[in-house]
Amino acid sequence: MLALMRTIIERPEQSGPEGGPVEELSGGVDPKTRLPFGVSRYYAALARSSDPASDPIAAQYLPSADELVTLPYETGDPIGDNRYLAAERLVHHYPDRALLLVNDRCATYCRHCFRRHFTGHGRGRITEEQLDAVCAYLRRTPAVRELLLSGGDPLMLSDREIEHLIERLKQVDPDYVIRLCTRMPVVLPSRVTEAFVGMLSRFDSLWAVIHANHPRELTEEFRLAVRRLLRAGVPVVNQAVLLRGVNDDVATLEALFRGLLRSGVKPYYLFQGDLAAGTAHFRVSIERGIAIMRELRSRLSGLALPTYAVDLPGGGGKVPVEAALLRIEADAYVFRGPDGGEHRYPRESELAGPARR
Ligand code: SF4
Repeated sequence: MLALMRTIIERPEQSGPEGGPVEELSGGVDPKTRLPFGVSRYYAALARSSDPASDPIAAQYLPSADELVTLPYETGDPIGDNRYLAAERLVHHYPDRALLLVNDRCATYCRHCFRRHFTGHGRGRITEEQLDAVCAYLRRTPAVRELLLSGGDPLMLSDREIEHLIERLKQVDPDYVIRLCTRMPVVLPSRVTEAFVGMLSRFDSLWAVIHANHPRELTEEFRLAVRRLLRAGVPVVNQAVLLRGVNDDVATLEALFRGLLRSGVKPYYLFQGDLAAGTAHFRVSIERGIAIMRELRSRLSGLALPTYAVDLPGGGGKVPVEAALLRIEADAYVFRGPDGGEHRYPRESELAGPARR
């Protein structure tokens, strides 16, 4: 059993009184890849059990002893952010897109987080000097057309800080499309206040990319947060992760995608689990992922159906699973990567891993 220490961390400045505070536990996990414990009271209240083995909400925020199992090919940086660092806090992997790590804090730390080399390690918010360097790089790299504000969760910053970030980036190029990559509508929907969306509505070409994994996350509070974003002219899309014991069955994913669509959210991606340290217990085999998607395709409209995608290990890039899969070998799935080369993703036995929930 993990030895855990409980502390209180501050809540984001703009969260409503019903939103926080956030609790944090730490300790007992490999310091290179450790992810703090932290959960909003709102999200914790969605769980029906405090046992991560029996509840799909608890499984996403409560640490389990399974996290202490790190497989040889798992790392803290499974999609290779560090390989594509163009400036401090700026990941430039794909020619037309760049990702800013604006803040390392989250309102809830997802136990499956793939950015655990950065998230929750105390590096805090992007500094003005780092932002200067990011803007200087962007000015000399006109191929970049889309900017992803991520972290951590950018909405842990205050409204004023987010406004300042967007202003600085739009000064470089007013035509940038900016994605706010946030889990707040799911884990702390009260953060999406009228004042916040009023500030966002000043800007063109903003998108919100959220992260819901289970239909029980689609509460009335969630729907209100989404409605506010939509009314402010900010389209909302969802990136889910296929998680064993949370949503790895057709009925759960069908309910999730239908519920998102009803809320005004386009299901955008369903991601295969990344090879993040201590997350083997969450991963589903790619054969099963493909079978689930086949069944979903027969039930759902194109609007409700996301693309099942995998980030090829080590920074190989994101590809659609079914279109890019070349062959299945005894110990690996072999994909055609965006670079035209072959990339391997390990073929794991679900039965050989930690116990299935
Ligand atoms: S909200 Fe995003 S960055 Fe934060 S822990 Fe969850 S997956 Fe990781």
